Amino acid sequence: MTSQTDYPSVVDHQFINNQWVPSAGTRLLDVMNPYREVRIAQVTAGDAADVDAAVKAAKQAQPAWQALGGAARAKYLEGLADALTTRRDSIIKLSATNNGKPLAEAEIDLDDAIACYRYYAGQAKALDARQGELVSVEMEGVEARTYHDPVGVVGLIAPWNFPLVTSAWKLAPALAAGCAAVLKPSEVTPLPERVLAEIALEIGLPAGVLNLLNGDGEGIGAPLTNHPDVDKISFTGSNRVGEAVMQAASTRTASVSLELGGKSPILVMEDADPEQAADWVMAGIYFNAGQICSATSRLLVHENVAEALYAALAERMDALTLGDPLAEGTDLGPLTSAKQRDAVQRYLDLAEHEGLTVVRDGQHRTLPAQGYFLAPTLYRDVPLESRLWQEEIFGPVLCGRSVASEAEAIQLANDSVFGLAATVISGDPERAKRIGRQLKAGSIWYNSEQLVLPETAWGGFKRSGIGRELGPWGLSAYLEVKHVIGPAD
Ligand code: NAD
Repeated sequence: MTSQTDYPSVVDHQFINNQWVPSAGTRLLDVMNPYREVRIAQVTAGDAADVDAAVKAAKQAQPAWQALGGAARAKYLEGLADALTTRRDSIIKLSATNNGKPLAEAEIDLDDAIACYRYYAGQAKALDARQGELVSVEMEGVEARTYHDPVGVVGLIAPWNFPLVTSAWKLAPALAAGCAAVLKPSEVTPLPERVLAEIALEIGLPAGVLNLLNGDGEGIGAPLTNHPDVDKISFTGSNRVGEAVMQAASTRTASVSLELGGKSPILVMEDADPEQAADWVMAGIYFNAGQICSATSRLLVHENVAEALYAALAERMDALTLGDPLAEGTDLGPLTSAKQRDAVQRYLDLAEHEGLTVVRDGQHRTLPAQGYFLAPTLYRDVPLESRLWQEEIFGPVLCGRSVASEAEAIQLANDSVFGLAATVISGDPERAKRIGRQLKAGSIWYNSEQLVLPETAWGGFKRSGIGRELGPWGLSAYLEVKHVIGPAD
């Protein structure tokens, strides 16, 4: 059997009911290698008929999958984690090739996905013990018990920046809960997720429990969010599309979880070591070429350490190696698509027009001859009114401002329509934690790079989204609470 990590040149089959069936879609989209700027495959744009078939399969499979119980479902989740581990090297290479991220980052992604499947195997087992728990009620002679039922058939829609990870954060808890899923990876990076179908067959996942549909928003995304038999949509992506998903789901009162954009702050206080702080600032914005929803893209640095920090950052930025994602030693790959490169370039043009103060930009280095590269860029003293300060850029662009006090840092950190994440750096960990408690965001790191743990929740305040992934909260997103109440025996 051909491994799905060796993808076909035309990905025109959908994985429905444990079979590869031809897509009803007639449009083909190019799948690119963003470093080589060459097409490496074509993928179907999908069609509403594909969605119909997949949802039908999921609807048929869901009751038996629910009835299996958490412990039995956990075995499949362990199987998924094991099978991903076995294919480690080929998946990492494929992900780096399709997404453009360096191998070391693709490796972190895969480890994250594997950890997620294992974590939710544990949660699935634990769910059995939680079923039928007695509720303590005041009323005499009454028995009330709590049950957690799966929401039903779920549509899972993923973006292109973290292939296999964003899908794992949805698929693992959905399967653990007893839902049957229709998963739609991004049409920009459709190749890594195909391995999930191969694994489903290998581990004997019951037919229809996982259906994988390739396509774009028009071909698959919109028909999936509009489908009357889809009970819940979990979406990760842009605010623009997230709002459309929410509107579509509202017409049938379907539940939605949304993981959207961010403009997260990183606060460097006057008691921080600027050299150490610079490492954490770098990791928060130049990882994955800045295409991170939780990128700490607004730097708020105390004026007493600002000069030292900017100098340390400039030194580190000059030392970054841009190049082939598959080559050892590459720190920064290209952006994942020409479209994203152009979108970020428009912000750089605007910065020039606005006369922003440059610490480092494209003038300071020669870019590789090929690939959708942009130079790592740092502006300082960026006005609050600038769109670069306010909007998610989703590229290797950091905007800094000096602050005179802790209070000002906190006020500006919270002065955003987003609230996904934040980092606080201080020589005093207690102070860092205290500041962190005052920030309006779902994940706050202190004196650390961005640690993402399967046990802790992921999700945003304000326009960064609705609901939480990961941890027990991620499982709850796929469960309905039910109480059975009557006379006590
Ligand atoms: P996008 O919104 O363009 O696409 C996301 C997914 O939605 C893709 O699979 C796409 O095909 C699909 N889609 C497009 N139109 C649709 C429609 N009308 N209905 C349903 N689905 C549709 O986002 P993107 O460019 O792939 O990803 C970048 C964005 O994702 C950024 O804004 C980033 O902040 C966000 N993101 C957020 C998180 C998080 O956890 N909060 C994580 C990763 C990315």
